[in-house]
Formats: sequence, structure tokens, C-alpha cells
Amino acid sequence: MLQRTRNGKRKTILVAGGAGFVGSHLCDALLAQGDRVICIDSYITGSETNVRPLMNHPEFRMIEKDICDFHEMDERLNQIYNLACAASPPQYQADPVHTMMTCVAGTGNLLALAERHEASFLQASTSEVYGNPEVHPQREDYRGNVNCTGPRACYDEGKRAAETLCFDLLRSGRVDARVARIFNTYGPRMQPNDGRIVSNLIVQALSGEPLTIYGSGEQTRSFCYVSDMVAGLIALMNVDPNPEAPVNLGNPGEFTINQLADMVLAMVPSPSEIVHRSLPKDDPQRRRPDISRAKALLKWEPAISLSEGLRQTVDWFSTTPLRQERPRIKPSLRRLPTSTGISLGA
Ligand code: NAD
Ligand code: UDP
Repeated sequence: MLQRTRNGKRKTILVAGGAGFVGSHLCDALLAQGDRVICIDSYITGSETNVRPLMNHPEFRMIEKDICDFHEMDERLNQIYNLACAASPPQYQADPVHTMMTCVAGTGNLLALAERHEASFLQASTSEVYGNPEVHPQREDYRGNVNCTGPRACYDEGKRAAETLCFDLLRSGRVDARVARIFNTYGPRMQPNDGRIVSNLIVQALSGEPLTIYGSGEQTRSFCYVSDMVAGLIALMNVDPNPEAPVNLGNPGEFTINQLADMVLAMVPSPSEIVHRSLPKDDPQRRRPDISRAKALLKWEPAISLSEGLRQTVDWFSTTPLRQERPRIKPSLRRLPTSTGISLGA
């Protein structure tokens, strides 16, 4: 249906969350392929540093704004990627109401914009929609095991609701919406203090601090290097026809957190010891994507092994200031948006 990109012509692409970790790499890749990129970001968990090198690029434009309050755009858009949302558990739990509103009202605003501009839309969803999975590995038809009242729910349920909005507008023919279920992604430009496992372990090892492992460390994750993820997102946005179904994007290699810590310690000469901390509530115990659908539809699969990607990430952190200002997360008493701009009529 609505594949609105103008073949052969430069596209104008909105990247929401483009100052974040994955979003800034996506902005780089889109500019490199000759497109115009407009980034909207509130910097709540992202950083101006991530997009500073792009600020003088003639085809890059930065808008500092919250997507919950974003309704109109003065340039015609061909595509919208929605990556705006805190992704690290401590960060998305710091202001859970804002996280939920970002997923629902913010995504609703961007979908309404996509409808008005007849722009294709890609939602950055997450493996967290599977919760603590009872099915392994996770295929897209698994409906998940999410605790809707737990501390992770603002993110997990928010992302599930965002998927619902996407598929409602797709089914009714109003938006060419696509949904990527992203599994743990890592690489340069993760915030040193964002609390996720790869950045925590590398920063702790480089600083000679104890490596913190939550619980036994026998829980598993599958780690995808950021350049592979960006390639998958671009492939999903541009594949024709629209898959009309969510697509897992991730690296199927599965590692325990203990194995990951051993790999980091083997790469970073460090006096650091391992300390165990309590396992956060509802922490998923196993996670590995089944990427058959992405392979078949997008002809995509990750190319970078965990050891190669970790090497590049360690090298980047080694040349980056490790003590950064805390991200601007504060409990917000901000006015919650009352309207998404999506009218309920046909
Ligand atoms: P990130 O926190 O580095 O980036 C998110 C960006 O969105 C930040 O720049 C932040 O400032 C911005 N943002 C957040 N809420 C906003 C709002 N209401 N309005 C405007 N901007 C806002 O996280 P990331 O790892 O780059 O993740 C990017 C996207 O991918 C997120 O939507 C996340 O849910 C999804 N995802 C990431 C992973 C991963 O492992 N990195 C896994 C699954 C899903
Ligand atoms: N984790 C850990 N030590 C840390 C940070 C995280 O052991 O310092 C664990 C966490 O409990 C989870 C896994 O590592 O089991 C991945 O955590 P992360 O926050 O990176 O991602 P998510 O839980 O969202 O997959």
C-alpha cells in the first residue's frame, strides 16, 4: 500500500529519538545514503554530543522537543522512524508515567503526522513485549508474559500499546506502519551511566570498579551490534510490500551475563572483581530472537560477532570521558497530553 518514498529522489526523514544511542547511528546512516534528516529529541536520555558532528551538515536539522507535545512539521516528510523512548531499565523507570505517555501519546502524535504527510512509519518496539518469556527462542507470534502492574510495565506495556496503535492505523489503511522488535543492542555512544549491562561492565572494568552482576548471572541475553541493527531498521522501513507484521531484529547468539562479564574482563586489563547484587523484579531470565522472518523478508542478518562488537565498544569507551552528567531524568509533574491528534472517525 502506501510506500511513499520517492524512488530515486532524496527522502526527507524524521528520526524521533535521533540524539540517542541507536538513533544517532541511524541519523548518520541516513545522511550517508543521501537523505535529509530531521531529528526530534528532548535529550531526556540522549545527548547533544551524539549529534554534534551533524549540526553543520546541510541536510541535518535538530528540533529539541518532547514527542508528547509534537504535532506539526513545516517540511514534507517521506518517512518517520520513532526511536524516542528511554530504553535502559533504570532510566525508563525513573519517570514511568512519562515513559508510558511517550509510548502511547508520543507515538500517537507521530502516527498522526505520518498520516497527514503520507509518510511511511517505523516503530522501534522491543523484545520486552515478550516479558519474561515462556517460549524460547522468541518468535513474533509468541504473545508474551508481561506483568502489567510491575516496574517494567511502563515500558513493556507502553511498547505493546504503541504496536497496537501502529497495527490499528495500518489495518485501516491510514499509515504505512512497520514494527521492529529490537533485542538488546550495544555499541559506541551508549551513555556510560545509562545502567545497561554492556556499558556498565565496560565502564566498571575500565575504571577498576567492581563489575556488578544482578542475581546469579545465569540469565541470558542476545546482543546485537549497533551497525547491524541500523541496517535492519533501514531494510524494514524500505521493504516492499509492507510485512504487515512485527519483525524481530537482533543477534541470535545467546550469552549468560556471567559469560559477558568474562569476555569484558578478557578484553580490559583490570583489577576489577565481580560482585553480585539482587536481581531486579521481573527481570527476564532468557532472551533470544528467532530472526527467520527478518532473514526471509529483509534478507538481513547480523554480521558482527559479540567479541568483535565488544572490542569496538571497549575501544570507543577507552577514548570517551566515563564520568558524564546524569541524564536529565526527573519525576515530572508535566501536563500530560490530552489529545494525540488521531481522530477516531474513519
Ligand atoms: P536511548 O535512551 O539512547 O535513546 C532514546 C532517545 O529518545 C534519547 O535521545 C532520548 O532523549 C529520546 N527521548 C526519549 N523520550 C522522548 C520523548 N518523550 N520525546 C523526545 N525524545 C525522547 O535508547 P536507545 O538504546 O537508543 O533506544 C532507541 C529506541 O530503540 C528506543 O525506542 C528503545 O525502546 C528501542 N530499543 C532499544 C534497545 C536497545 O537495546 N538499545 C532494545 C529494544 C528497543
Ligand atoms: N544487569 C547486571 N548488571 C548490571 C546491569 C544489568 O547483571 O550492572 C543484568 C540485568 O539484570 C539483566 C541483564 O543484565 O538481567 C540485561 O540488563 P539490561 O539493563 O542491559 O537490559 P534488559 O534487562 O532490558 O534486557
